[in-house]
Amino acid sequence: MKILIKNKDINEALKKVSNLGFVPTMGSLHKGHEYLIKQSKKRCKRTLVSIFVNPTQFNNKKDYLSYPKNLKKDLNILKKLKVNFVYIPDKKDIYSFKRKKIIVLKKENKVLCAKFRKGHFEGVIDVMDRLTNIIRPNKIFMGEKDYQQLLLVKKFIERKYKTKVISCKTVRNKNRLALSSRNQLLNKKDLIKASKIAKELIQFKKFLRKNKKTKYLLQKKLTSLKKNFGIRIDYLEVRKKNNLKSSSIIKNSRVFIAYYINKVRLIDNF
Ligand code: AMP
Repeated sequence: MKILIKNKDINEALKKVSNLGFVPTMGSLHKGHEYLIKQSKKRCKRTLVSIFVNPTQFNNKKDYLSYPKNLKKDLNILKKLKVNFVYIPDKKDIYSFKRKKIIVLKKENKVLCAKFRKGHFEGVIDVMDRLTNIIRPNKIFMGEKDYQQLLLVKKFIERKYKTKVISCKTVRNKNRLALSSRNQLLNKKDLIKASKIAKELIQFKKFLRKNKKTKYLLQKKLTSLKKNFGIRIDYLEVRKKNNLKSSSIIKNSRVFIAYYINKVRLIDNF
């Protein structure tokens, strides 16, 4: 496993590499990341994993500073998975040049997290553009856990590069909670709460399949989740799978939620 830090290390190491799979991460790796890596290994000749906590996608400095970091453990996981390359760039290297055209989200895309985390996806798209430009992978593997991110990045990258963005299912623990690096910031009680919310929403989606009063049921569920779990909810919405337009039926749609347990913001979709 080669560890690459500088852009010139990348150029050197990847010169003769074809069919490269790329898994971008912010570290604190878990089984969700491992699944993406396994998909890349299955479909590509070589796999590169990046670990970079991108400052520009955090709309809250405290959130950035408290983001969990665990490089030693991450490297052990990656070694065990027999990843070919790990890229751990420096902020200065990634942001060494100013972009010509700033990234602006279309009005129709300013929904869900884009509405509540100003500048977040602009930061994500910018860093994914920079990383793709440096790495030039054939495929990028991304998780449905961050569904809106996946759609926005896929659209941008596939329009600009030959690279394909491959979507990978959300990995959950045995209590149905979606794995996330942020789960490390929760105590045992909070983790139980988050699992109960996930289970409730899985049932809720099944219920929506049989009952057409989506808008009314969403409102009712929002109120009951707030009351029963004492959580702050940014959104609970049903939106179309392919374009995230608001939907009044669950067919070809997903349920999206973003909520806070204490100060930790969790997102999921079902
Ligand atoms: P992150 O390190 O949180 O920025 O995530 C890096 C990649 O892993 C993104 O494409 C995420 O969507 C994906 N990912 C995070 N959690 C999961 C999960 N539980 N299942 C599948 N993919 C995930």
